[in-house]
Amino acid sequence: MNDAALVLHAALFAAHKHRDQRRKDEAASPYINHPLSLASVLAVEGGITDAATLCAALLHDTIEDTDTAGDEIEREFGSEVRRLVEQVTDDKSLPKAQRKLAQIEHAAHIDQKAKRVKLADKICNLRDVALAPPVGWSVERRREYFDWARLVIDRLRGIDARLEAIFDKAYAARP
Ligand code: NDP
Ligand code: ZN
Repeated sequence: MNDAALVLHAALFAAHKHRDQRRKDEAASPYINHPLSLASVLAVEGGITDAATLCAALLHDTIEDTDTAGDEIEREFGSEVRRLVEQVTDDKSLPKAQRKLAQIEHAAHIDQKAKRVKLADKICNLRDVALAPPVGWSVERRREYFDWARLVIDRLRGIDARLEAIFDKAYAARP
């Protein structure tokens, strides 16, 4: 498959996997808007053209939040994309608070392409928390989310000045 075909295949694959899920905002937006936003941040705002990075962005929540296995990703998109998606997938056997700490600890040790996906994920989630936060989140909780996202991103800096500047701009909207 050529790069454009592979990226579109990943968009459709993710749309199918997330088809019954919604985000946590007031409007309960379709879940797929989130992976599409990551890919758009990377390609449109960040100038990223690498197909494996864009596929990993589109697929980044499939293993964590749907019935998708790593094997299936490898079969459809190859071993590099599988590795990138696995590197941005939380270990769901850990309690929530430990998962949040693990993200901070792991951020420095993932591939450069996975770091870009992680940057895009945090950029999109900060924008969402600022503009369309999960229902019921107090200002305090929204601030805590911003602070945690910053701790994660501070561990992986020095790889992509353009995306890091976009993150800093999103962080500047801290409530
Ligand atoms: P999370 O902090 O994990 O929820 C945020 C996640 O939800 C995001 O990372 C994002 O993940 C996803 N998401 C879906 N919709 C939105 C949206 N509209 N805006 C932003 N993110 C969205 O919340 P949990 O409920 O899982 O709680 C985890 C932690 O929060 C616990 O460790 C606990 O310590 C703390 N907590 C704090 C409270 C407080 O009042 N301060 C109260 C309760 C818990 P993705 O990109 O993967 O989809
Ligand atoms: Zn995400």
